Amino acid sequence: MDKLVYFFAKGQAEGSASMKDLLGGKGANLAEMTAIGIPVPPGFTISTRACNLYFERGRKMPEGLEGQVGQALTRLEKVFGKRFGDVADPLLVSVRSGAKFSMPGMMDTILNLGLNDQAVEGLARVSGDRRFALDSYRRFVQMYAGVVLDVPKHDFETMIAAAKKARRVADDTGLQEKDLEKLVAAFKKHVKKATGKAFPQDPVDQLWGAVAAVFRSWDNDRARLYRRQYGIPDDIGTAVNVQCMVFGNLGDDCATGVAFTRNPATGENVFFGEYLPNAQGEDVVAGIRTPLPISRAQAGGDGSGSLEARHAACYAQLLGIRDTLETHYKDMQDIEFTIERGTLYMLQTRTGKRTGLAALHIAFDFKEAGVIDTKTLLSRIEADMLVQLLAPIFDGKEKDRARKDGRVLGKGLPAGPGAASGAIAFTAERAVEMAKKGRPVLLVRSETSPEDLAGMVAAVGILTSRGGMTSHAAVVARGMGKPCVVGAEALRVEVEKRRLTAGKRTLKEGDFVSIDGSTGEVIAGSLTPHPSEIQQILVEKTLKPERSRLYGRYAQLMRWADDGRRLKVRTNADTPHDAAVARAFGAQGIGLCRTEHMFFAEDRIAAVREMILADDLAGRAKALAKLLPMQRQDFVGIFRAMAGLPVTIRLLDPPLHEFLPTTPEQFRRLGREMRVPAARLMERAEQLHETNPMLGHRGCRLGITYPEVYEMQARAIFEAAAKCAASKVEVHPEIMIPLVGTVREFVDLAGRIRAVGETVAAKTKTRVPYLVGTMIEVPRACLIAGAIAKEAQFFSFGTNDLTQMTYGFSRDDIGKFLPAYLDERILPVDPFQSIDQDGVGRLVKLTVEEGRGARADLKVGICGEHGGDPASVDFFHRSGLDYVSCSPYRVPVARLAAAHAALREDGTHGSTTA
Ligand code: PEP
Ligand code: MG
Repeated sequence: MDKLVYFFAKGQAEGSASMKDLLGGKGANLAEMTAIGIPVPPGFTISTRACNLYFERGRKMPEGLEGQVGQALTRLEKVFGKRFGDVADPLLVSVRSGAKFSMPGMMDTILNLGLNDQAVEGLARVSGDRRFALDSYRRFVQMYAGVVLDVPKHDFETMIAAAKKARRVADDTGLQEKDLEKLVAAFKKHVKKATGKAFPQDPVDQLWGAVAAVFRSWDNDRARLYRRQYGIPDDIGTAVNVQCMVFGNLGDDCATGVAFTRNPATGENVFFGEYLPNAQGEDVVAGIRTPLPISRAQAGGDGSGSLEARHAACYAQLLGIRDTLETHYKDMQDIEFTIERGTLYMLQTRTGKRTGLAALHIAFDFKEAGVIDTKTLLSRIEADMLVQLLAPIFDGKEKDRARKDGRVLGKGLPAGPGAASGAIAFTAERAVEMAKKGRPVLLVRSETSPEDLAGMVAAVGILTSRGGMTSHAAVVARGMGKPCVVGAEALRVEVEKRRLTAGKRTLKEGDFVSIDGSTGEVIAGSLTPHPSEIQQILVEKTLKPERSRLYGRYAQLMRWADDGRRLKVRTNADTPHDAAVARAFGAQGIGLCRTEHMFFAEDRIAAVREMILADDLAGRAKALAKLLPMQRQDFVGIFRAMAGLPVTIRLLDPPLHEFLPTTPEQFRRLGREMRVPAARLMERAEQLHETNPMLGHRGCRLGITYPEVYEMQARAIFEAAAKCAASKVEVHPEIMIPLVGTVREFVDLAGRIRAVGETVAAKTKTRVPYLVGTMIEVPRACLIAGAIAKEAQFFSFGTNDLTQMTYGFSRDDIGKFLPAYLDERILPVDPFQSIDQDGVGRLVKLTVEEGRGARADLKVGICGEHGGDPASVDFFHRSGLDYVSCSPYRVPVARLAAAHAALREDGTHGSTTA
């Protein structure tokens, strides 16, 4: 029979840190901590395998589990010296979820399990504190009813509020023994009414109810949404940890807290955490009470409220454990602890979530201390995190002005760095609605809970008036890389009234507010976000590299990444400015210049429209002649910005109607400009109308029907290249034909392009080497890749169109059904964001194989949106592509992702979601 239960107690454990697949992160680390001699309350872990079997068996407990749990309970009773269900001195346990990947607050936890009407009196006697015993029972009934019995959690909160009102106290702590006694009775009565059954009194029944509920919570909406957000697989299940309870709420010699072994926002090497005196663990994470700082340094002033001051011995022991854990795990840890009557217990350790900034500094500090090597350093910084290092900050002067104007509303904790300015939304639903309308939204709450996840995803930043650096809002925002300020206590958030007040100032929903997630400042009104240090150095060139430590480390990271990768990284850029930005970020050429973007510029659109609406060739030629010098100038600018590097220029691609006016008024104006009756223009536009424009007259089909358009573009490219070459600028044009699906399309157009090349070379007496290649966007092109490659010198996958045509999903309309597809798990991720490796990816592999079979030196790249997505970059690396091309600001991300892909192939880098 499978082993489904793993025991740990007193320096001995059946599991270990390497067993995260089976024991979940929490369970594996509880075992590991126990084994290395750290004080952990004894317990056992029910494996993820048991959870998976539970679902496989149609939500029934797997065979053999009951016996194994029974044995583990007996062992637990022995080592802890108390009996489960003993009414005189009961053994109480916590039951917590714990998957392989941490999913903070997404699944359920039950504390104080084992209490019933008799045992509560036993607990009162042994603890010498009847109020405590009643409060524990009250919490247990409340949690159990909410989690296991599905009684709305809100019902209990209403009853507590009523009890507090009757007693005229603001805090739960103001409730007295009698009040708690009444509350417990009322809770149980409510449970009976709501479920038709009495609250379970048998601890063994309670335990099985709790275990099943934790298994089930794997499948709740919050957990599913979280997994989708972080790319965690749905089928790995959760483990269940059953552990002896220790109490941080037995009096003033008790406390509970959470800490990071280093600062998770900045990476600074200081112990950083928070605690609550006389409280139970969940109180800290829930963000309901604002916790106190752990160290004197962190507290500031005389540090008197800190754990260091109040529990000196435990604090010293904690510092020792901090070192032990960092030495053992070789990384920053996020820990939970409880002090019960002066004795310290560790309840959890895991790799701490951190911002991009902290990830960079922590990895470098560990490397410089000789603890980790370069490869490990590279693997510790997720590619997407670099986006945060490039994230905007507020301008110092603008902030000073806001300060002088009295617009600073308060200061909270800097929980997630970056500057954000947005319209206030007080609920997650409103945030989602407002963001859908295209507004930047700032989610403002008194505290956030897992239910707010969708709103946090939609918002540009998050602000809360309560909670600490380890509250839900802070942890989740950091994980998402969003600017976040928490615990801004000067603010009053009144959700019902849709009102935010700070002193005399009141802001309403929709008003703008700005937060600086690096300093904690909250400012009324909007401030303009300003480029990061890295951007100031690389793009604006307003800061000297040697003045920024951050930049120094970023640059070193990028050098190491470049040394480690095989895949080249190019950029998608249509202007000399974008090209220059991308080059500063390390682009090794342009992978896609969409020439049509140049057509939209104000000084060109009229000539473009004239060309489209012309009745005949003569009319089109006249308009094209106007466009030629402008296009040539564009290319000169881009070639100069990319001197020495390849530049792939794609000829006109979109359906022509995209350039045309839409309203009668616009047609009238155009008619006046062109001196043609508006009615005639509208008639011509009507002729151009298509039912499926994305499958219609676009791409190379335009080149075939209006060859003069592609010839003009080719001429502009060749003339620009000749001009640059004449002034000693090294140019490598790669001319790309879009949407090819047949060999003849390519041969016909490539022939025309080369003919133009000859004419220009003869005229300018300059011969610039160039390539002519094709995009691979139509599935048929993949299927005949060998034949196309005989003619084309390079391929570039347009995975946007290739995804559209492979799935048959309209890329413009997928928003109508994608949310449902993701919810129902018909699709694991949006295939337009992360490449569908099984389907579209299979076409990619086939194309590379057949293309290279026909032409061994065929250059192959990808220029769809997927070029900047780390998981897709990994796939393209494995598929043997030469380069990926992405937007300028994603270039560093793609460089690091390409290095990760190479490391992973080597087996020196773990999974993307670790
Ligand atoms: C593509 O289809 O992937 C592509 C890069 O072209 P566009 O997005 O311009 O259609
Ligand atoms: Mg395309």
